[in-house]
Formats: sequence, C-alpha cells, structure tokens
Amino acid sequence: MSKKLTSRAEDYSKWYNELVVKADLAENSAVRGCMVIKPYGYAIWEKMQAELDKMFKETGHQNAYFPLFVPKSLFEAEEKNAEGFAKECAIVTHYRLQNDPDKKGKLRVDPEAKLEEELIVRPTSEAIIWNTYRGWIQSYRDLPLLINQWANVVRWEMRTRLFLRTAEFLWQEGHTAHETKAEALTEAKLMNNVYATFVENFMAIPVIQGVKTESERFAGAEETYCIEALMQDGKALQAGTSHFLGQNFAKAFDVKYANKEGKQDYVWATSWGVSTRLMGALIMTHSDDNGLVLPPSLAPNQVVVVPIYKSEEDLNAITEVANGILSNLRGKNISVKFDNRTTHRPGAKFAQHELQGVPLRIAIGPKDLANGTVEIARRDTLTKQIVNLEDLAEAVESLLKEIQEALFNKALDFRNAHITEVDTFEEFKEVLETKTGFISAHWDGTNETEEKIKEITKATIRCIPLDMKAVNGVCVYSGNPSKGRVLFAKAY
Ligand code: AMP
Repeated sequence: MSKKLTSRAEDYSKWYNELVVKADLAENSAVRGCMVIKPYGYAIWEKMQAELDKMFKETGHQNAYFPLFVPKSLFEAEEKNAEGFAKECAIVTHYRLQNDPDKKGKLRVDPEAKLEEELIVRPTSEAIIWNTYRGWIQSYRDLPLLINQWANVVRWEMRTRLFLRTAEFLWQEGHTAHETKAEALTEAKLMNNVYATFVENFMAIPVIQGVKTESERFAGAEETYCIEALMQDGKALQAGTSHFLGQNFAKAFDVKYANKEGKQDYVWATSWGVSTRLMGALIMTHSDDNGLVLPPSLAPNQVVVVPIYKSEEDLNAITEVANGILSNLRGKNISVKFDNRTTHRPGAKFAQHELQGVPLRIAIGPKDLANGTVEIARRDTLTKQIVNLEDLAEAVESLLKEIQEALFNKALDFRNAHITEVDTFEEFKEVLETKTGFISAHWDGTNETEEKIKEITKATIRCIPLDMKAVNGVCVYSGNPSKGRVLFAKAY
C-alpha cells in the first residue's frame, strides 16, 4: 500500500486531492481542467444518477438529448445568459485539419475549412433547447413540458479542482415550460426540494435551501433557488440550483402558446441542475484521515468479505461460508463483494477497503469457522464486533441503516455547530478567522454592501434561507435597516 494520506488538519486541500486519486475516484487528464473519472468513482456517480433519475420520473419528467454544439446566433439570443457564459466558453471555428507544409508529421487547421457560423460547446443548454421548444409548443395542450437531459457541459474555468470545479463536467439539466408564472415557480421550488431530499437522504449531507442574491443568480434567471452544504473545513459548497427563468427564454426564442381562450402568450420556464460536483460534496462531508467514508446508499459495495487463511483448506472452508453470506445478503438487496484475491494479503485488502470507504467489512478466519462467528468492522466509527453467523444478515441490515443515519447526524451536528449569528462586522471577521462556517447576519439588501463584504472578507452570501425569519435589524456592514438574517460563508 502507498503511504498514508496527508491529514485534514495538516492540509485540507492536499488531503482532498490525494484522497480522490488514492481512493481511485478520478485523476487529472492530459486536457487542462478536465478529469478522468475512474471506474470506482463512476460507480458512485451512477448510483447518484439512478436515484435522481427515478425522482425526476416520479415528478413527471422525461429524458431527452440535445446537441453538444450551440450555433453562436442561438447562444447570443438571450442576452443576459450569453453575457454570463461568454467569458468561459469553448468555440469551434474549423472543421478540418491538414498536413502542415512547414512541419513534417504535424497537422494544422485548414484555413479553407472555416465554419460559416461558430459553434459554442454548450456551457448550459437553454439556448439550443428553447430554440427546439418553439417547434414543440403551440397550445396549452402541449404544456407543461417537463424534460431532463443527462449530459456533459464545458465551462472554461480558470481555477479547477477534481469534481468540485472542472472545465468539462457531467450533470443533468432539467428544462421545463409552463402556462403560468405560478406553475413555473412551483416547479423551480419543487425541483430544489427534490435535490434537498436526495442530498439529505441518499448522500447523508444536510443542506440549507434558499434563494441566491441578484449577483449570485444564474445568468438569465429571475430567481435562483439553491441547496447549500457545509464542508468539514468550514467552507460552503453550492450543491444544486434550480432557476425560475420567467419568460426570458420564451421571448428570446419566440416560444408562444395559445391559451384556453385562444390568446397567444409567451410560456414560462425553469431550469435546474446538479453535477459531478456532488462527488466532491460527498467526499468533503464524510471522509476522514484514513480515506473515503461512504453512506451505504451510495456505496458501490456496501459490504466486503475478506478471508483470512494460511492453508488452501482454510480458504475452501471460508469460501463456503462466504458464499452463504453473499447469497443471504444479496437476498436482502445488500451489495456485497467477496475479496478472495490471492494477490493481496488481508492487511492490504483492509487498507484498500478502508481507503475506498466500504461501509462494512466482514473478516472470516479459522477461529471464526470454529466458533460460527465473523468479525464486522464499521468504516465510519472504525469499531469492530463479533457476530454469530445466524444473526449476520439482520445485523448487517441494521448496521447499514445505522451508518446512514449516523453519517447524516454527524454532518448535521457539525453544520449546526458552524452557523454563527453575528451582529457586528468585527465579530463577522473574527468568526471567519477562527471558526469559519456559515455566518448568519443582517444585510441591507444592496449589491454594494454584498460586494464590499466580499472584497474585505472573501465571504459571499450563500443564500437567503427559505425559512428566514422576518425580523427587523441593522445591516452588519452598513448599519442600514435589514428585514432578516442571510447566510454568508467562504465557499468553494
Ligand atoms: P448552474 O447551471 O450554473 O446553476 O450550475 C448547475 C450546477 O452545476 C450547480 O449546482 C453547480 O454547483 C454545478 N457546477 C457549476 N459549475 C461547475 C463546474 N465547473 N464543475 C462542476 N460543477 C459545476
């Protein structure tokens, strides 16, 4: 086994990067800012996809697929959206290479093969989708239109981090069209709630639901709902967003419908997305200095069985017991792997499964065979217990449930202990220096104040919580009147 991880206390950021690579989740690639997601990391992402996909379908959505490229004329149609993404997009200008006459064995862009119209590699798909919706929507009978796409997008990010911020990332993007403003608003809130439910119940990550301030809003949106999580280093992470787009895209792409009275009106829109950033949230919320800690709901293997033997005879006897365990657990829908590799010693297997966050490890040795027992080790608490074989399936089932809950509760306690109410700017700065986490403070509602606070402290308004209490106060920075507390934090 390679040597231990850097500890979180020593260098949190280094710990994260090492963990992603050593747990075999992803690695940097030959392309700047783009990652290779390795099979173990991809298996976790597939579990997230499967659950989210189910939730989208249960709320009436269907999947479809739209092109990777957006012609520039469509990209620029909705001005605010175009302006927001123009600074970070990749552009295709040519469609052919040719042999370079000056450098043998090299290729160059064929100057004759210039595209008549440049193509933007989608940073988000509103433009191409709303251009398509014009042909799909004629009357109220065509509404609501509830579509989701699983895709990759490209945003030319300058400072990238594996999973958290990459130039190309995988995501899903929902794009819906509605008859009324109220319906679209309901949809945007519903999908933010779907995200919150998924992230809390499956990823065991507590989140705060809120709306973004104008300056943090999605380009082209009238309102952005979000879920915000807190990482172990006290920095916040935007884990998902759901946008109410008003009639902005309908107007830009001339998408009208005939209402029940036969009158033409523009339709109302939403879009919503979560990305492979969720992998980063997962890692940074639960993992420890020994490696990844996975909630059972998302673990590719919930249980691993490791045989401990000296002779082939022992291995054969253990294999027989292990096969019984495997079929028992699989019968209960528990994913389990028998790690009978002869190329690795038990100690190396233990270390690998610990590093990769397998929630439960079962070890079976000759003594267990004689006693009719096994040893179960929990990844989250690193505790061990001896269990009788006949009680094993029930024990595993209840332990997995317990781990899922324990991870959520631990993260929730940490998050709640890191929300600090402050009333002065001195306290505000002090909390950022000493404790970090979310700061709950009064804000006067202006862009200028938000900008100033960001300039001085690097903390941004993560959200105006949906459950914000309406209480009059004075802004922590300007002293002007405020209607309630908002959440500030330094963020990824
Ligand atoms: P947006 O379309 O900007 O609302 O983003 C949708 C989701 O993708 C948000 O939840 C973001 O957290 C996430 N996201 C945005 N940019 C990146 C990136 N460069 N890498 C990974 N995820 C991202």
